[in-house]
Amino acid sequence: MDKRVYNFSAGPSTLPLEVLEDVAANLTNYKGCGQSVMEMSHRSAEYKQIIEDAEANLRSLLDIPENYKVLFLQGGGTLQFSMVPINLMTGSKKADYILTGSWGEKAAKEAEKFGDVKIAASSKDENFTYIPEITKDMIREDADYVHITYNETIHGTHFADIPDVGDVPLVADMSSCILSERIDVTKFALIYAGAQKNIAPAGMTIVIIREDFIGNAPENTPVYLDYKTHAEKDSMYNTPPCFSIYVAGEVFKNLLAKGGVDAIHEIDVRKAAKLYDCIDESEMFTCPVRKEDRSLMNVVFVSGDDAMDKKFVAAGKEEGLVNLGGHRSVGGMRASIFNAMPEEGVDCLIAFMKRFEEENK
Ligand SMILES: *Cc1c(COP(=O)(O)O)cnc(C)c1O
Repeated sequence: MDKRVYNFSAGPSTLPLEVLEDVAANLTNYKGCGQSVMEMSHRSAEYKQIIEDAEANLRSLLDIPENYKVLFLQGGGTLQFSMVPINLMTGSKKADYILTGSWGEKAAKEAEKFGDVKIAASSKDENFTYIPEITKDMIREDADYVHITYNETIHGTHFADIPDVGDVPLVADMSSCILSERIDVTKFALIYAGAQKNIAPAGMTIVIIREDFIGNAPENTPVYLDYKTHAEKDSMYNTPPCFSIYVAGEVFKNLLAKGGVDAIHEIDVRKAAKLYDCIDESEMFTCPVRKEDRSLMNVVFVSGDDAMDKKFVAAGKEEGLVNLGGHRSVGGMRASIFNAMPEEGVDCLIAFMKRFEEENK
């Protein structure tokens, strides 16, 4: 294949072409320093600049207050399913989880190893096709935290508003929506996000944590799993995921140059709206997710016929529209249209869906 495909994968996912080209141009000799970022000491002056700029630009994009630390860790979103309870479930040892899909279920299951987990609300009764209404009285007042999955990558749901959980600290998995919308960081005790959805290549996970939630892990916590270890050493306790952090930094610069989160959000809204409109107007495809809870990033849809879904995914691939299959646990289709998916990619998908429907009536 001599041209780039439109990659609708939910992760690792598409990256901005300008960033890839810039990374390629600097691959063997980063800015004239005679070596690639992959080879460079993480203690070098060049790398120090890379990681400091990455953090500063992320802070600027998300308006992260001074009293929050930004950590660049390894282990993916999955390790945060463990690190969050290890570090935060240290008071009453109770935590309330809101389940809106498979990722939240996994997070809750992991947390059960460390304390008393209550499922405060769940949309499992309807296959996670909506976001349940959350009111303060559903949350245990003495819970150490409440955990939500802000955007459910597999089921295609998204919290339209930050739920009101009273004074209980709120923790959010934002792996698949970070940087797609403005968020009020001060409403959260901790936000985490794996890089490979909306930011960078796999290998790095961002944790944004309010300082007073650092330093409460039990004595016998493995050193890597204690947020304090990383906070004290500015994510340099051990070798960080250097290359992923570098590419993330380039993506942050690219986003800032494009006008920041508000500017990309406007484009994200437009991309998602036209794709959902196409689905809603179609006689072949339907989106199972309740309208007000639909994700801007992960658009799920089905034809209602497994064989037709498979045919669609295969035909899309032939056209250079790849990875349109739904998650292996749910089937159907899913188009992940992260920040880096060009609007033309969505336009091509829509044109293809119309053509496919016409040809398969
Ligand atoms: C992908 C994903 C995860 C898991 O990420 P890994 O980096 O594969 O561990 C967790 N939560 C959400 C919402 C995700 O989309």
